[in-house]
Amino acid sequence: MSAESDMEYSDNDGDDYDYYGEQDDCDMEAVDRSKSDPEYFIYSCLKVEEVEKLLNESIELLSNSLQVTPSLAKVMLHAYEWNAQEIINKYKENANEVLVYSRVKPRVASLLQASASRAVCAVCANTPPIHKYSALACGHYFCNDCWAMHFEVQIMQGVSNTIQCMAQDCEVRAPEDFVISHVPKSTLRERYQQFMFKDHVKSHPQLRFCPGPNCQWIFRAWVREGARRVECRGCELLTCFSCGAPHHAPTDCSTIRRWLTKCADDSETANYISAHTKDCPKCQICIEKNGGCNHMQCGACRFDFCWVCLGDWKAHGSEYYECSRYKEDPNLANDSQHAQAREALKKYLHYYERWENHARSLKLEEQTLASLKSRINQKVMAGEGTWIDWQYLWDSARLLKRCRYTLQYTYPFAYYMEVGPRKELFEYQQAQLEAEIENLSWKVERAETTHRGDLENQMDIAEKRRTTLLKDFLELNTNFASSSSKV
Ligand SMILES: [Zn+2]
Ligand SMILES: [Zn+2]
Ligand SMILES: [Zn+2]
Ligand SMILES: [Zn+2]
Ligand SMILES: [Zn+2]
Ligand SMILES: [Zn+2]
Repeated sequence: MSAESDMEYSDNDGDDYDYYGEQDDCDMEAVDRSKSDPEYFIYSCLKVEEVEKLLNESIELLSNSLQVTPSLAKVMLHAYEWNAQEIINKYKENANEVLVYSRVKPRVASLLQASASRAVCAVCANTPPIHKYSALACGHYFCNDCWAMHFEVQIMQGVSNTIQCMAQDCEVRAPEDFVISHVPKSTLRERYQQFMFKDHVKSHPQLRFCPGPNCQWIFRAWVREGARRVECRGCELLTCFSCGAPHHAPTDCSTIRRWLTKCADDSETANYISAHTKDCPKCQICIEKNGGCNHMQCGACRFDFCWVCLGDWKAHGSEYYECSRYKEDPNLANDSQHAQAREALKKYLHYYERWENHARSLKLEEQTLASLKSRINQKVMAGEGTWIDWQYLWDSARLLKRCRYTLQYTYPFAYYMEVGPRKELFEYQQAQLEAEIENLSWKVERAETTHRGDLENQMDIAEKRRTTLLKDFLELNTNFASSSSKV
């Protein structure tokens, strides 16, 4: 695992590929989809024991090739981001430099006289017998009781790999065996080793803890940037490998951070639009939204309208473009500061409302997914076909979830996009995707009365729209410098 060899890379192909909780998919399907899916990327989801094994392989490799203790190997690996091969090569050239860089040895050789410094402990001023002193490679001797106290304090603060020598301005780090031999309490030693492990994972460029609460799973992949979808085998959380935020394609890592911070800061302002009920635009009766679909039909007057903009749905089909898109005022630059601020708020609320609305739809559609599952089970129990016969219903609801998720994350992307032809293209594709998702949602909510061919056709169209948008806009994100110059 030290070298990022192609062998390892292809080993992971296919079988570790999870897609939105769809681990029940057969491998063939996953491999097939990888070709057409712009978000496809290779990663694995590992248990603690598997990662420990992985780390130990590096430790063993280094300690064998350099003839150093595993403890020292750990200090070096931590300093060199677990690139064992780099350490071995550099060590051959200049061993001293590697040891200094890793803080195994001091930058300037210590001038302390070993015997003189062992007469009295510089920390506690006691004078224990000479064999009760110890020092790191820097030669700063202190009494063992002081070392024990020092380590206890550090471990209690969560420090592990980076515990330093007690001498002032000395940056030499204490290797594991030195710490362990000075810590008498086994509970403290265990705690120390847990912190060590966490720190190792954090310092390893290929590893990331799943950000799920109390989740122990660890992702492994070979990238450092760009929106990279990983799904946890344990808690099923969908996150970005690069930044740990909820997965956010087509939006890139820095933009989603800006957007989430903005939403948190402006939550008061945005609260008023988080309504679960609205009045029918035709008969004014109060309507509660209990499904994910934004194509609403008034139960009283049967009027079809859009939940987001309250426009007539019939006109909406052709003009959906106008619903998702925000029309900026071209005369804005001449307006007063006050008018500009109001305009900025209006723009933000436009995007925020749609972002929020799709998040809510997603939750409601998850309920649809759950109820579909139990209805299929009922059918199968009642002898109305097998699971395979009804699989398409389940697939349609899962596909809807995947499409809706991407759609939600197109809104922060559009919000920060500069006005121009590229934004126009993006908004055009976003509107197309949105229209097909609402059509799909409408059909999924009526899945059992919708013709199977019709539903499958709609699934196809929606997924095509999603992949087209990602193909055109996700790639550019990982390569932001080149993409912005094209605009
Ligand atoms: Zn002491
Ligand atoms: Zn020292
Ligand atoms: Zn997890
Ligand atoms: Zn990210
Ligand atoms: Zn009505
Ligand atoms: Zn609308």
